Amino acid sequence: MFLRELIDKFYLDRQKDKEQHHFYITDAGKCARAIFFKFKNVPRKEMEANILRLFDHGDHIHQLIMKPLLSIREIHVVAAEVNIPPQELISGRADAIISNGKNLYVLDIKSMNSMIFKNLIEPKEENIDQIQLYLHYFKIPRGILLYVNKDNQQLKDFIVNYDKKRVLSLLDALNDVKKKIDKNIIPDRLPDYPKNWQCRYCQFKEVCPIANAGEINWNDFKKKVEEDKSSSSTTEASAEVEKKKSSSTSLPSEAW
Ligand code: SF4
Repeated sequence: MFLRELIDKFYLDRQKDKEQHHFYITDAGKCARAIFFKFKNVPRKEMEANILRLFDHGDHIHQLIMKPLLSIREIHVVAAEVNIPPQELISGRADAIISNGKNLYVLDIKSMNSMIFKNLIEPKEENIDQIQLYLHYFKIPRGILLYVNKDNQQLKDFIVNYDKKRVLSLLDALNDVKKKIDKNIIPDRLPDYPKNWQCRYCQFKEVCPIANAGEINWNDFKKKVEEDKSSSSTTEASAEVEKKKSSSTSLPSEAW
């Protein structure tokens, strides 16, 4: 019990104050509004410690996969954990660049549970977006998405060819978000909000409805949040039962 709490605290402390100042490869193709909120450090629903431990577990699986790759004669690991060349827009680190003696490939390893793995017949769109950017920045025409079932270690792999049109559209979208961040314009929500899978897992799904559909000025949005907070606290004061609302359903209260 005592140890469990300390371990949870270690993970929860690590996620605090993670302000974002530049794009990551994982932002490619993601909701522009959620990216905006991350940059502006909008208070977000904290991830639970066990989810954060799962991310660590994912890193561990990557290392397990790399171990045989370093020993297989047919494959040469040219570089592991390799950062994309520095440039202004985006940063990221590919799991590896490998060679079969003829061609170079960017390798991106993803782990998932049995249920998702079983139904995986093609690479996930968001993973293709990420590897496309790696291919672009490394100037390598082919990549491999290697999926690992973290429950039984089964593998599936897919070759991905560089798609310049897709990359340009991803970069355009990121440049557009950057402009909106600089101009303090909160981007529109996703067209299929709230059904999109990103909304289901979004750490900003409590504040997103306050901005409503369409773009909104950042300062106007902050005023709306303040208004919502004060009207909700008035209601809470008048109804004792409301005071017992769980913190997970309250509006963010930290300063931003
Ligand atoms: S709830 Fe959906 S639309 Fe709103 S910020 Fe999150 S991902 Fe974007």
